[in-house]
Amino acid sequence: MKPTHIEHLGIAVKSLEESIPYYENLLGTKCYNIEEVKDQRVKTAFFLVGETKIELLESTDPEGPIGKFLEKKGEGIHHIAFAVADATVALADAESQGLVLIDKVSRRGAEGMNIGFLHPKSTHGVLVELCSK
Ligand code: ZN
Repeated sequence: MKPTHIEHLGIAVKSLEESIPYYENLLGTKCYNIEEVKDQRVKTAFFLVGETKIELLESTDPEGPIGKFLEKKGEGIHHIAFAVADATVALADAESQGLVLIDKVSRRGAEGMNIGFLHPKSTHGVLVELCSK
């Protein structure tokens, strides 16, 4: 499942409205896309830094994954996403190596990507997303 690069870093924030100006200033670039991902109960905002994106995640539901993360840990880095040729194949590879999957098959994420998550209990505590176009 050799990744080609870090596709994005996912960062949980309380408010996109408050955090977007901070990141625009920090990165010297404008947010280029805001998108709601209903099944993950988040609103996302994207910035491009070289080949890698920063994905800000605001919860739309306190019971959703980001809502729970914010309540437990507060704002901060939520996941790292690796670009792979085919997320479904990479998930199967990861499973065959004994890693625990959150998603058995890829699903549609923000920006039309196919995505799937590995469980942090088998990845040294880091929530890992695999994504492909
Ligand atoms: Zn992500």
